[in-house]
Order: sequence, then C-alpha cells, then structure tokens
Amino acid sequence: MEDFVVSARKYRPDTFDAVVGQAAITTTLKNAIKNGHVAQSFLFCGPRGVGKTTCARILARTINCTNLGPDLEPCGECESCQGFLHNASQNIYELDAASNRSVEAMRSLIEHVRIPPQVGKYKVYIIDEVHMLTTEAFNTFLKTLEEPPAYAKFILATTEKNKIIPTILSRCQIFDFKRISIEDIAAHLKKICEKEGITYEEEGLRVIAQKADGGLRDALSMFDQIVSFSGNSVTYKQVVSMLNILDYETYFQMASFFLEGNAPACLNLFNQVLDNGFDGQTFVEGLSAHLRALLLMQDQQTIPLMEVSANLQARYGEQSRSVSSVLLLQALELCNSCDQQYRISSHKRLLVEILLLQLVRLFAPAAWAGGEAPASVLGER
Ligand SMILES: [Zn+2]
Repeated sequence: MEDFVVSARKYRPDTFDAVVGQAAITTTLKNAIKNGHVAQSFLFCGPRGVGKTTCARILARTINCTNLGPDLEPCGECESCQGFLHNASQNIYELDAASNRSVEAMRSLIEHVRIPPQVGKYKVYIIDEVHMLTTEAFNTFLKTLEEPPAYAKFILATTEKNKIIPTILSRCQIFDFKRISIEDIAAHLKKICEKEGITYEEEGLRVIAQKADGGLRDALSMFDQIVSFSGNSVTYKQVVSMLNILDYETYFQMASFFLEGNAPACLNLFNQVLDNGFDGQTFVEGLSAHLRALLLMQDQQTIPLMEVSANLQARYGEQSRSVSSVLLLQALELCNSCDQQYRISSHKRLLVEILLLQLVRLFAPAAWAGGEAPASVLGER
C-alpha cells in the first residue's frame, strides 16, 4: 500500500464510458459528437462531485482528438491526447468562479479566447460555480458567450441552477447531472478494491456510498481515508466507526426489543447511543428508516426501493415477517411526529424515550400490560 494515490484522482474517468452513473448525459454527448452537432455552450447543473468537471474534460479531449476511434474514444496518442494525458493541454482552460469572481478574471479569460488553438480544433473553457461571478464579471463575459469564435466551446458548471440568469440559460444546452445511486457508487468502489487488491465487505462500501449522498468525489475521499487508516481493507465495522455512523445493528437490536416488549432494554440502548455522541434526532431518523425498510419488505413491489445488499435485505425480510404493515405504519407516524416536535421540545431526551415506550406498547401490547409499569421504567434513569 505504499504511495496510495488519492482515488478521486487516480480513478477519474477519462472516457465517457467510464463515467459513473450519468449514462443519459454521456450518451447524449457522444451522439452529438458523432453527428457533428456539438453545441457551442453548455450548462452542466447538479450537486457537487457527480462528474460535471470530469465530463467537461472528457468532452474537451474527445472533440480535439485527431484520430478518434469508431467508438468515439480518444486515441490517447495524437498530439492533443498526449497534451491531455500530461495535463499540459493548451486546449482546456478551467476557471473556478468561486475564487475568481472579478471582472479582471473574466477579461483575462476573454483575452485567452481570442487566440485560436495551436493543436487540435477546439479550445474548451470550463467555468465552475458560474453562479458565483459578480454581475459585472457576468456582463463582461456575456458578449463573448453571445458571439464566440467557432473554435471556442464553453462549459458552465453550477450547483445552483436557480441562480443562473435567463440570458445564460437560453444560450446554453443544459444538462442536469443526477446524484449517483448507492448501487453505482458501491460498484465503483468495489472495482477499485479489486484493482488495488484491497479486501472489502460489501456492506462497508455501501455505507460509504450512502453517506456520500450521491456524490462520487465525497465517496472516494471517505474511501481513501478509511483505506489509508486501516492499511488494506474496508470492513463494515471500520466504516461505521470512522464515519461515526449509527449502524443498522443498533436498529435491528432496537426493533427486536420492541417486539419482545423489553422497555428497559430499549431505554438502555438509547442511552448508549447518546453516550456514543449521537443526537436524538439522528437516532429517530435512523429508526424511521429502519421501520420504513421493514414496511417496504412486506410487498414484492416495494422491495426494489430498498437500496441495500442482498444480505441485509434478507435480514430486513426476516424481521419484517414478525410484524404487520398496519403496526409499522402506526410506528412510522409516531416517529414522524416525534421528529417534528424534536426541534421545539425542551425535553428532547424524554421525547425520544416516550416514543420508544409507545413503540414497545404498540408492538408488544401483552408484554407491556404484564411487564413493568412505564413509571418505574422511567424512574430508573
Ligand atoms: Zn487522440
């Protein structure tokens, strides 16, 4: 594991086919190149770390390759491709508008646009976080965007499409990048593990994917952190402890206490969760997600909505069999109202404890009636 290269960089896709989870966009771009209808200006919208800049770079590289293969993959050998491979291409110009918002930055970009490409046919300008430009900078740029030289292509990228003025929107071909699915991110991490000889547990990779919330770049940086810490493996346990995640074991355990009608165990487990530094609301959110999973497992048609491994799905399925969907729905309603009251409540801990006791009573009414009285249970705390 010497010289572990940051995965985000090492595994940055360099062909359209290698881009993760944006098939609709890469197909459209490839078709445009094939038909010779590449737009002059693009607006790439979408959350951070989902492949906007990567696609922009691949586009730049592809349209400049002088020896494009029939599959529209750049050859990797022509002068332009070599320039890209060594990060020395003069055909691509990246500007981060978040840190270069000024008119001066725009003027120097416009100067650059005036010079035709020396190698290849096109110069591609990527302006990242374009919504951050000042109004003056924007206006300076607008003329160039309206009448660009034929060799110039503009790719404007933004995480906040709503902040882009209509003048820009109407001049660009717009692509909406989607959050990448947990499935796709996990599969990508798995590929990296296999290439790098890293041992892994699929559940661990999934938790990383889940936590990344659709952003591949975030997933890769968490993955790097874990691998560089653990040496050469990614286990579920390492991931939940490093990313400080309330793991599903807690919820399986909690739900089985509900079903047994074991109120004291529920309160103790919740106490442990708080001791581990999690807040009550995070816990309630996770509990709702667990109950929702049990509900989804009750119908063949909703099972595909579960974004978990087959292994874990089987465990949800098993627990789901011991409870009815009517009860699960009631339980979810209780969780939901607890979640809503949480922010305004001045007794947050008590609020969650009441929820847990209500759930015990709901799932195991007999044990509840014959068991310890709620007052004595609360008295223990
Ligand atoms: Zn080439």
